[in-house]
Amino acid sequence: MTWFVVGKTGKLKHAPPHRARRWVGHALACPYRVSVAGFIALICAVFAAHAASSSPDAVSYLLLDANRRTVIAIDWHDADAAVPIGSLVKPFTAIAYGEGHGLHFPVYQCTGAECWLKTGHGRIGIVQAIAHSCNSYFRQLAEDVPVVDVRETAGRFGLPGPPLDCDRETLFGVGSEWRVSPLEAARAYAELAARRAEAGVADVIEGMRLSARIGTGAAVGATLRGSGVLAKTGTAPCSHSPKAAGDGYAVVIYPGDSPRYVLLVEVHGKTGARAAETAAHLLRDLTGAR
Ligand SMILES: [Zn+2]
Ligand SMILES: [Zn+2]
Repeated sequence: MTWFVVGKTGKLKHAPPHRARRWVGHALACPYRVSVAGFIALICAVFAAHAASSSPDAVSYLLLDANRRTVIAIDWHDADAAVPIGSLVKPFTAIAYGEGHGLHFPVYQCTGAECWLKTGHGRIGIVQAIAHSCNSYFRQLAEDVPVVDVRETAGRFGLPGPPLDCDRETLFGVGSEWRVSPLEAARAYAELAARRAEAGVADVIEGMRLSARIGTGAAVGATLRGSGVLAKTGTAPCSHSPKAAGDGYAVVIYPGDSPRYVLLVEVHGKTGARAAETAAHLLRDLTGAR
């Protein structure tokens, strides 16, 4: 759905996705007096609106009560439809690995050869790997965790697991094989927040805390400076039509020490880091977080 607000000049304009909005209906039905120039602008707005209606909305979001798992606010075209969510699956693969290895996580070397950061993350442990969403770390980790274990762990968080015959990259969010619905993803993160003190989960939570400060979710910490907050980002193949290069995802859990909210955001055609920026502003507008 495309939303509009009436600007100060009386023209229709697209509503910012995270602002209070009201539906003003078809532009021609608006009882505004406009000049000839204004009328032409209005007609242009109508055509733009019709063109936009065939394009996916840029921002989708889902705000959950972290404890009740109920939806507080939602603007998502089909929040039940399963889509790839990129690196948002990494925490669940990490926990599966930890459970299979006495809750000990390895330290690996990221040279950048198989990571989105071409200069490499250097020697890196689980907390930094979550914070910076290091693909090289998770590529090595995924070699040593059975798919069936990942499915079992994901299931305990209410998340459908990856297909049994998937490739290794699927376990850390590459490709489109591991698909979950936005509602399932948000609720799995609420479950993660509820279990934040459990061994194995706590390492992931520390990674999300670091992500919001200096990692791929740093925009969250920059906006909510006075708050303890947790973040995780992901970038996935676009699930819309027409297609973009990819979709950015961000999960924010707030407050970090005593979670009340889980916000999941998807931004069509952007990266996870950009989605984190949008999520921070949305969280502030929706909950008053500072
Ligand atoms: Zn890396
Ligand atoms: Zn998209």
